[in-house]
Amino acid sequence: MKVPLLDLKLQYNSIKEDVEKAMLEVARSQMLILGKEVENIEKSLADYLGVKYAIGCSSGTDALLMALMALDIKPGDEIIIPTYSFFATAGVVARLNAIPVFVDSNPVTFNIEPSLIKNAITSRTKAIMPVHLYGQCADMEPIMAISREYNIPVIEDGAQAIGCQYKDGRMAGAFGLMGCFSFYPTKNLGGFGDGGLVVTNDEQLADKLKKMRNHGMHPKYYHGFIGGNFRLDALQAAVLNVKYPHLESWHEGRRKNAALYTKYFIESGLAEAEGILEFNEKNKVRLPKPVYKEINHRNYHIYNQYVIHVQKRDELRQYLGEKEIGTEVYYPVPFHRQECFKYLNPKDEQFPVANALSEQTIALPIFPELTEEQIRYVVEMIKEFYL
Ligand SMILES: *Cc1c(COP(=O)(O)O)cnc(C)c1O
Repeated sequence: MKVPLLDLKLQYNSIKEDVEKAMLEVARSQMLILGKEVENIEKSLADYLGVKYAIGCSSGTDALLMALMALDIKPGDEIIIPTYSFFATAGVVARLNAIPVFVDSNPVTFNIEPSLIKNAITSRTKAIMPVHLYGQCADMEPIMAISREYNIPVIEDGAQAIGCQYKDGRMAGAFGLMGCFSFYPTKNLGGFGDGGLVVTNDEQLADKLKKMRNHGMHPKYYHGFIGGNFRLDALQAAVLNVKYPHLESWHEGRRKNAALYTKYFIESGLAEAEGILEFNEKNKVRLPKPVYKEINHRNYHIYNQYVIHVQKRDELRQYLGEKEIGTEVYYPVPFHRQECFKYLNPKDEQFPVANALSEQTIALPIFPELTEEQIRYVVEMIKEFYL
């Protein structure tokens, strides 16, 4: 049985007519950049996320870059980030000649470990940038407490987490001074190309971000500060406007699939429960866990990725590949091990959790349209590998 890691055509086919109609309207209007479609998706997502302002932009990477530029981050400023994330989180910091300060991860959530943040703070720290990795909220309560205590702003990298709730029911991206999102096609809300979003409750920052995405221009051809071309296309926004009403049901599909994986992994004898940290005879596979769910049934993990810990990861991946099961490794090289950050002299032994995650985790197919039969087959093949 073929089980691709992701099949975007299935989603497309389910909304094809509406998407094509919306795209055709944009084509006929020839209003191609910003405009009404962009304003509509900004309004929808500000309401959805529970924030006052949402500013569409050219990508998730540019959303992060704009957020840092809006804070006037200067060369030598330090930004605290998890060492285990997609490259953009660190890349945007370094592009401004600021210094990414790496922090190790929590082994259950894969997110930045809040208890290690204080140690990373110096007089040059200008922001803390937690990532809500794979669609689960970073532990925002202690992170915001540190932010208040040291008066250091938080920028949330919510690129993989649009619509994920923390234990208090608030959405990822609504905690910090700014929250950043991506509409890259593989994200839970994906466009037909690149796109991104910055959200904030701060009116002045919202105003600055709107000018920033258009070269800091206001009024026309007058530039109070230097921005860039970070604009969002109308065509992307039109697609997002069609997709947005389906977002919750797609999240629900992913959650249902995650629950099926848990069920079949436990039934197969490969794992006893979600979130167990040791490998042993009864736990050949370690399952992801929406950690705060027991507390009040919130913390809605949106499973942008479904990532398990395993032993003999690379051999397993090879085996599943032979069985036509698509998998991916996010991320094989944490920032402190990247060639491009050698100049920072990071100490490898400071990041034992991220190192283990990068060596032992594998992402399984989780997209909403996956069938129960396919999920059962994936678990069966993993069991076969470990027999
Ligand atoms: C996808 C992603 C980004 C970047 O988004 P793009 O739209 O691809 O530029 C940033 N951070 C994380 C954690 C991501 O997963």
